[in-house]
Amino acid sequence: VVSRLPAVGTTIFTVMSRMAQECGAINLSQGYPDFNAGDVLFERVAHWMRAGHNQYPPMAGVAVLREAIARKIETLYGTAYDVDSEITVTAGATQALFTAVAALVHPGDEVIVFEPVYDSYAPAIELQGGKVVRLRLAAPDYRPDWAAVAAAISPRTRMIMINSPHNPTATVWTADDMAQLAALTRDTGIVVVSDEVYEHIVFDGARHESCARHPELAARSLIVSSFGKTYHITGWKVGYVAAPRELMAEFRKVHQFNVFTVNTPVQYALADYMADPGRHLGLAAFYQAKRDFFRAALAASRFELLPSRGTYFQLARYAAISERPDTAFCEYLTREVGVAAIPVSAFFADGHDDRVVRFCFAKNEDTLARACERLQRV
Ligand code: PMP
Ligand code: GLN
Repeated sequence: VVSRLPAVGTTIFTVMSRMAQECGAINLSQGYPDFNAGDVLFERVAHWMRAGHNQYPPMAGVAVLREAIARKIETLYGTAYDVDSEITVTAGATQALFTAVAALVHPGDEVIVFEPVYDSYAPAIELQGGKVVRLRLAAPDYRPDWAAVAAAISPRTRMIMINSPHNPTATVWTADDMAQLAALTRDTGIVVVSDEVYEHIVFDGARHESCARHPELAARSLIVSSFGKTYHITGWKVGYVAAPRELMAEFRKVHQFNVFTVNTPVQYALADYMADPGRHLGLAAFYQAKRDFFRAALAASRFELLPSRGTYFQLARYAAISERPDTAFCEYLTREVGVAAIPVSAFFADGHDDRVVRFCFAKNEDTLARACERLQRV
C-alpha cells in the first residue's frame, strides 16, 4: 500500500504502555488514572441502561448532557452556547479534534501547532492535505513566542491549534497569551481549535484561560474537552465540542458520518454527574496534592523537575543521570529501573530532544511512592 501517513508509526502511548506491561514496570507513561471513578457514576449508567436508554441518541448528544455542558461553560467562563446548535458530544477529545480538522481544513491550508505537540494533531491535518506549521516552545519554559506566531501567520493559515493546560509540558497559558492570540487572529478567517481537556487541572490558584472567557476568541473557536480527564474515565471515550453555530454546523456534517453518535446511557449518567459542580471544581486540589507528593518524593533524586502548573504530568530533566537520548533513557527506565515514562521527543516531528521525560502522576500515592523509591536510586 502507498501509505497516507508514511512518517507515522505506533503512537508513543501504546509503545510505552506495552513496554511497561512486558517488563512489569510501574506505568507512569500513558496518561490515565490507576484509581476508579465514583460508584455513583456507575450506578447512574446502570440506571439509564435498565431504564431502556440503549438505542441511538440524537446525533449531537442527549439534550440533558448538552444542557449541563452549556451551563458549566457559561458559569465558569461566561460564554453562553446554544444547547441545540453549539454543543456536540463526541467520542473523546481525539475524535473531536480529528473531526474539527476534517471539517475545516482544505488541501493546502496551513495549520499552526506548537511543539511539543500532542501526537494526534499533525496526522489529522496531514490526512486532510493540510500543511503543518510547527512553532517550537523552547525548554525549559515552553512559553509561546508571539512574535514567531505573528511571523508564521500567512494568507494560507486556516487554523491554529492550542492546548492549555499543555500536554506534555504542564504549562498554562495566561490571559496575556490569550490577548496576544486574539490580536493576531483579529480580522482574519483563522479558526482556533482549543484543546482544553485539562481545563479543571490548573494549580497554585491560577485560572484556566478558556477561549470561552475571551469573547473575541470564542467567536472563532472550537473548544474541545474530555470527560475522561475530568471524571477519571479515560476508557469511556466521551468528550465534547463547543463552537459558534456556523462552525458547529460544519463540524456536525463530518461528525454524523464519523461516529454519528456516542454511547447513550453514559451520556445520561454524565449529565446526572455534572449536576454537582464540586466534582469538576475539586479536581485541581485533588491533583495538586498528587503533584506535590510526587515532587517531594523525587526531591532527593538526580532528576531536575520542571514546573508543573497544570495537567497531571511532570517533566523531568535527566542530564545529571545519563547522556542517552530520551527514547533510550525511557527504555532504560522501563526495563532496568521499573518505571515507564514518555520521551518528550515523541512530540517533535524532527525528534528534537531536550533530554526531558514526562511522568504521569494521576496515580494512587502508593503507586507514586513505589515509583519514586525506584527513581531515587538512578
Ligand atoms: N488532547 C490532549 C492534550 C490529551 O492529553 C488527550 C488525552 N490524553 C487527548 C486530547 C485525547 O482525549 P480523549 O482521551 O478524550 O480522546
Ligand atoms: N493523552 C494521553 C497521554 O498523553 C494518552 C492518550 C492515548 O493513549 N492516546 O498520555
